[in-house]
Amino acid sequence: MGQLEQTRARCRSLRLTWMAQQLPQLLSEAESNEWSYLQCVDHLVDYELKERDQKRIQRHFRQAHFPMEKRLDDFDYRHQTTITKRQISALLDFNFLDARQNLVFIGPPGVGKTHLAIGLGYKAIEAGYKVLFKTAMALVEELELAEKRGELKKRINLLAKNDLLIIDELGYLPMSRQSRYNLFQLVNSLYEYRSIILTTNKDFTDWGEFFHNDNVAIPIVDRIIHHSHIYMLGGESYRLKEKLTN
Ligand code: ADP
Ligand code: MG
Repeated sequence: MGQLEQTRARCRSLRLTWMAQQLPQLLSEAESNEWSYLQCVDHLVDYELKERDQKRIQRHFRQAHFPMEKRLDDFDYRHQTTITKRQISALLDFNFLDARQNLVFIGPPGVGKTHLAIGLGYKAIEAGYKVLFKTAMALVEELELAEKRGELKKRINLLAKNDLLIIDELGYLPMSRQSRYNLFQLVNSLYEYRSIILTTNKDFTDWGEFFHNDNVAIPIVDRIIHHSHIYMLGGESYRLKEKLTN
């Protein structure tokens, strides 16, 4: 084996896959641009880092389990006028994640709640955060299953590994008493520790009723809204608009 091949094999055994792949190309670039030794090493390390970053972001996209791809860039603020681009852009420094604050999007169907939640989720991943998307229904089912197996705490700890948990569509379907209790356990564990983006069709005044006014209703609402930014979205359903114009 020649020197080059040997070096590339060593790179691979160190899992420096990008370096192994690009080494011949990089060496010839170094030569033609007359890079110093230090510059050459720096380029190698820099590209390897960027490549890993890219891979990590792709992995986090997969692990987030977004049900569809929605980007903030595709959000039309001329249609949705009850929230401004400025309000959403202000969130993109992700101070709300660092401060473990929540976002709550409240509004009727079709006004863009899920779109904004997923769009923010994508941006958060690109900024280096771990995100998980769950519909409220799937989350409740998952917690119920875990609880039956005596693994509720374990499941909650797993969910809490994410910086941001997106809970989509809370309030559409009724929940059993046990489910409300499980949800309370989750919200309590995440409180001041992780962030939640919640989308719901229920105004806070309806939450008591939704949670059957039992003893977990108020603590759940209280913990979610304590450190949170609340956005009330209104207007016409975008789906309806698309139907009418097509
Ligand atoms: P909600 O979660 O409030 O029910 P969605 O976010 O699912 O509504 O929006 C319904 C559909 O309309 C989605 O395909 C979404 O991408 C699109 N949509 C909603 N509002 C807008 C908007 N302001 N600009 C672009 N697309 C929008
Ligand atoms: Mg939705």
